[in-house]
Amino acid sequence: MSTTFQDDKPVTASLLIMGYEVVIGFETHAQLSTQSKIFSRAPTAFGAEPNTQACAVDLALPGTLPVMNKGAVERAIEFGLAVGSHIAERSIFARKNYFYPDLPKGYQISQFEIPVVQGGAVEFYLGDEKKSVRLVRAHLEEDAGKSLHEDFIGQTGIDLNRAGTPLLEIVTEPDMRSSAEAVAYAKELHKIVTWIGICDGNMQEGSFRCDANVSVRKPGAGFGTRREIKNLNSFKFMQQAIDYEIRWQIEELADGRAIQQATVLFNPDTGETRAMRTKEDAADYRYFPDPDLPPLVIAPEWVERVRREMTELPRLMAQRFVRDYGLSDYDANTLTQNREVAAYFEAATQTCGQPKLVGNWIMGEISRRLKLLEADISACPITPAQLAQLVGRIQDGTISNNAARQVLDVLWSEPQGTVDAIIEAKGLKQMSDTGALESIVDTVLAANPKNVAEFRAGNTKALNALVGQIMKGSQGKANPQQVNALLLQKLA
Ligand code: ADP
Ligand code: MG
Repeated sequence: MSTTFQDDKPVTASLLIMGYEVVIGFETHAQLSTQSKIFSRAPTAFGAEPNTQACAVDLALPGTLPVMNKGAVERAIEFGLAVGSHIAERSIFARKNYFYPDLPKGYQISQFEIPVVQGGAVEFYLGDEKKSVRLVRAHLEEDAGKSLHEDFIGQTGIDLNRAGTPLLEIVTEPDMRSSAEAVAYAKELHKIVTWIGICDGNMQEGSFRCDANVSVRKPGAGFGTRREIKNLNSFKFMQQAIDYEIRWQIEELADGRAIQQATVLFNPDTGETRAMRTKEDAADYRYFPDPDLPPLVIAPEWVERVRREMTELPRLMAQRFVRDYGLSDYDANTLTQNREVAAYFEAATQTCGQPKLVGNWIMGEISRRLKLLEADISACPITPAQLAQLVGRIQDGTISNNAARQVLDVLWSEPQGTVDAIIEAKGLKQMSDTGALESIVDTVLAANPKNVAEFRAGNTKALNALVGQIMKGSQGKANPQQVNALLLQKLA
């Protein structure tokens, strides 16, 4: 394990809570979307009858041997490539020994000293500030079974179906400085693993579980003692749990008590975290290389093949949007938050050739409407082709932005309509007849000598009043740019 450094960056006052700086590092267990277990051919499907999906290998019964699932390794490689990590050519599986009812074999096969994925970083925006959280490692391991507390009979049962399900444990440096940053990191990580398809991301079913390590310190001091909040399986609880934990630690310190390193659980009903056990050290687990598994050897050719076959990564897609479509970094990032949105954007852009306008309409009007419905882009009633038509009509001056919003409203409830037919039916066309427009301008100028005089005297605001009158005279159908140009010409 390498040294953990802190950034050479001053802490901004806004991040301090009662004079303390927050430090957060994450450990995330992403369940890999393989069909079978990490070391056996038993199925991994969720929700089967208890104890119907664990085989002798998953339980390490005498005489069995684990065999590495190639699909799990490929997914680990894909992840490493997605976050710019080093893929170890040779990594080692180790036994992590502990005793718990849901782990009858007495040890978990994991990776300790030499993990398969090393380094890398997750980059994301927090508001409009770009953040980068460094990864220490990501290692392959098997999941344990599950205790089922059958309160109605006062007994606890063990379901071993999950035993041996492949996990990728992704560990960050303690780089995060607020609960908001931690949640943004977790969301970005979730986006990456689901985008590349190595994990289904279902947090309720436990496919993506985060442990948040939280500590506080006075600015400039060394790292404080951390407590680890286990198994956060919703972004909402994550934020609540971390915020509670920060407040709790600061109050303890303020009262003159020291923080004990501990593992804690968040209770969503009380909104509190509570210590589950004092923290084990690595030594408690008596790690040693698993004698049943040879080193995992990954030749560079294998990595290259996976790289070639991988879908375009969100990070690279965002860079391409900047390069090919001239989008800002921020817009490109927003439009690649999700694969469907990115595909929608590209389809519309390729039809009308107006990336900036298309992007603005998706991020503005369309996403606003979807948010009200709590729906995502797959529920958008307007097709990319229709958006392209709409943008085309704004671009060629047929309709104003305002009129386009009205067209969008109609299309939203009658998606079989066409943009041109709606413009026609609602009479939304901008005035393109310069003769008619000129006569309105002349009338307005003649009727408002005061404004004209003021403008000529250098009061540029007087122009707005005139534009307003003309727009009114044209019932909103004049093209504001054209009006402006015409006015300046007449007043020159
Ligand atoms: P372990 O494996 O025993 O939990 P690690 O040293 O691997 O311990 O750290 C686990 C996680 O805790 C990492 O994500 C790391 O960034 C984070 N971490 C380490 N020290 C601190 C600290 N003082 N405050 C907050 N997080 C920390
Ligand atoms: Mg830990």
